[in-house]
Amino acid sequence: MLTAVVGINWGDEGKGRMVDLLSEDYDIICRYQGGNNAGHTVINDKGKFILNLLPSGILRGGTVNVMGPGMVIDLEHLAGEIASLTAKGVPVTPDNLKISDKAFICMPYHRMQDILEEERLGDKKYGSTKRGIAPVYGDKYMKKGLRMGDLRNAATLEGKARDIVEWKCLTLQSYGAGPELGPLLEWLNHYGSKMIPYIIDTTPYLTAAAREGKKIMLEAQLGALRDIDYGIYPYTTSSQTLAAYACIGAGIPGKKLDRVVGVMKAYSSCVGEGPFTAEMFGEEADALRKAGAEYGAATGRPRRVGGFDIPASRYGIQVQGASELAVTKLDVLSYLNKIPVCVAYEVAGGRTLDFPSGDDLLQAVPVYEYLPGFGADISMCRKAGDLPPAAMDYIRYIENAVDCPVKYVSVGPGREDYLIL
Ligand code: GDP
Repeated sequence: MLTAVVGINWGDEGKGRMVDLLSEDYDIICRYQGGNNAGHTVINDKGKFILNLLPSGILRGGTVNVMGPGMVIDLEHLAGEIASLTAKGVPVTPDNLKISDKAFICMPYHRMQDILEEERLGDKKYGSTKRGIAPVYGDKYMKKGLRMGDLRNAATLEGKARDIVEWKCLTLQSYGAGPELGPLLEWLNHYGSKMIPYIIDTTPYLTAAAREGKKIMLEAQLGALRDIDYGIYPYTTSSQTLAAYACIGAGIPGKKLDRVVGVMKAYSSCVGEGPFTAEMFGEEADALRKAGAEYGAATGRPRRVGGFDIPASRYGIQVQGASELAVTKLDVLSYLNKIPVCVAYEVAGGRTLDFPSGDDLLQAVPVYEYLPGFGADISMCRKAGDLPPAAMDYIRYIENAVDCPVKYVSVGPGREDYLIL
């Protein structure tokens, strides 16, 4: 069984929480793209954890966690994440963590390049998290990257690093900055040596696991609207967040997914710049942001918020190929007497449910309607029958509008705070 858990919108949909919940039934959890530019927040009996790089299954004993070839890994950040989990009593060993030899290393100069470029862009900045993600993916496609497997061969690592530093200094000349080989090698040796025990070729490992009938879950970072190709370019991330890429990014490109669980919030949120048609402002937005604690897990930045966005979610579900949905944070809407929903966009051709492509999105104006509030705190509901009728109507309304079945509804951040429809 091969399942992908993916985001339908701008990210922060609560995927980490859903993977943590669903991972009970899985043997192997893989991250297939991205780096430490976003964070999953997971709350369970061991405490509160923010995971930027490690797959969320690491918090569950008995699962093996794989960081796939599609990822970019900041060694220093990963070392810190492993240390903080270990300090909280969560074991991270070569038995429960396997890192692909083909994943790319995100270097200190990638971080620096990211910061310099956002500064240069000024008002036109992309809203990068400045963790070096765009530069490291850029270098990957320029074939100027170092991969995790390179760490295992000290004899060739220095030469490879030297060649890359030479090129990097040339390309960064106009910024008046460039990396130095000595400190870079020290960094690679110091943090890289800690990672060597975890590094494997994930392709034979996962292929054998699939053949043995192991249940494998592929975990995405960010959402459909941040995909480099199908998202709101250039306000995207630099990798493929779509389920169609999951098997490639995890290390089993020849396999097909059995299930795609699309995770979306009961309302919308967006970190960073770019079009966000359903965005709400002023007191209405402040109240929703506060109720949903919408501040970035990786950066602490206040998130932009809005009502549930039907055109954007329909699009996200379509490009993800979601077979079922998980709606998270329904409890957050309990405070509202009437619930705002962006039911359509007004564009040049009139009212539409289609998500506009390219610059057309800039012209879209949200059409808001209001649905009745739940009139009760729903955070203690554990089965469909516990939900007040208005909450159930809200879910059914969404389900109908996006044309995909809702299977899970989450009503709180804790592991048990959910119900199955
Ligand atoms: P991810 O990157 O998609 O995993 O999302 P984040 O971790 O950035 O954001 C989800 C946040 O919402 C986390 O702080 C979760 O603990 C919290 N959360 C997830 N599901 C629920 C829910 O159903 N209700 C509430 N109140 N919080 C939730």
